[in-house]
Amino acid sequence: MNTFKVGIVGYGNLGRGVEVGLKNTKDLELVGIFSRRDPKQLDTTSPAYHIDELDSFKDEIDVLLLCGGSQKDLPVQAPQLAENFNTVDTYDNHNEIPTHFEKLDKVAKENNTVAVLSTGWDPGLFSLNRLFAEAILPEGDTYTFWGPGLSQGHSDAVRRVEGVKQAVQYTMPQEKMVEDVKNKKKVDYNKLSAHKRVVYVVLEEQAEQDKVKEAIITMPDYFEGYETEVHFIDEDTFASEHTGMPHGGTVLRQGQTSDKQTSVYQFALDLDSNPEFTAAVAIAYARAAAKLAREKVFGAKTVFDIAPGYLSPKDPADLRRELL
Ligand code: NAP
Repeated sequence: MNTFKVGIVGYGNLGRGVEVGLKNTKDLELVGIFSRRDPKQLDTTSPAYHIDELDSFKDEIDVLLLCGGSQKDLPVQAPQLAENFNTVDTYDNHNEIPTHFEKLDKVAKENNTVAVLSTGWDPGLFSLNRLFAEAILPEGDTYTFWGPGLSQGHSDAVRRVEGVKQAVQYTMPQEKMVEDVKNKKKVDYNKLSAHKRVVYVVLEEQAEQDKVKEAIITMPDYFEGYETEVHFIDEDTFASEHTGMPHGGTVLRQGQTSDKQTSVYQFALDLDSNPEFTAAVAIAYARAAAKLAREKVFGAKTVFDIAPGYLSPKDPADLRRELL
């Protein structure tokens, strides 16, 4: 088995998920965690360094797993780090992926590195399955349902409402519509009609339930137009039931192979921990990045560009024998 050495850049939920995931991975060895914060402040037993020390590890690290945020960190860090390292990220700003790709492709080709972008589950495994379903069933419709799962962005938005002490927001698919797609029925799908939003709020003392609820359900861009439930709970219930990070969802395609023959393609994920699963996908793509670099296939790559065998620690002959 080949072994590769990896580094983690950024130590938030995803960075911790990669650290945990690497314990299940025999062929990838963690060299260190690199953070913009004082490494002594990080709650880890792994070797930790300030990000300014990273360049001195250039010859020791085969791939960096970039675990910064998509909004502010990755657009800056990913092109900079791709100058000296092979990289993998989970960039999830769908509209900006083409721009992120162009920037990384230029840097990676100029510096003979591999930069794998937008791995994870959406983008990532969901994207791959949308592609498979569409390529295999060219006549038909694809539906993506997200959840049940915790939305970090919507939870943050609710926490900013006056009178809210703590809050989480779960995105829930409309189960009836999911069942209808699976049962080959026609549905009137759009993002709003296909999902509902369920909010759990702990109120500040003196705050008024009705006012807080109204502010939440009418919030433009976040809740307006969605079916939204708001539940008020106490702090103990919040602490015991709402501090995990579950997520998941389903990609479905109804496709017609001939006039009266419909096939349903489905791919579903049910994740107790969104960051740990996202990390697990990024780890498999880190292995692929290392193999591509060894073969000198430089440049930016998405999940569409990488053959599945590259994700596995097994060699192609074993894969043919065991999994084909
Ligand atoms: P996060 O916890 O907010 O961490 C982002 C960065 O913030 C970290 O790398 C860390 O950088 C810094 N940070 C973390 N905790 C901090 C603290 N207590 N104080 C100061 N700085 C802190 O974000 P995340 O949950 O790991 O998510 C990272 C990205 O993953 C998201 O932006 C999202 O785009 C992506 N994601 C993708 C998918 C997918 O399916 N493609 C799924 C889930 C998430 P330093 O260590 O350098 O300070």
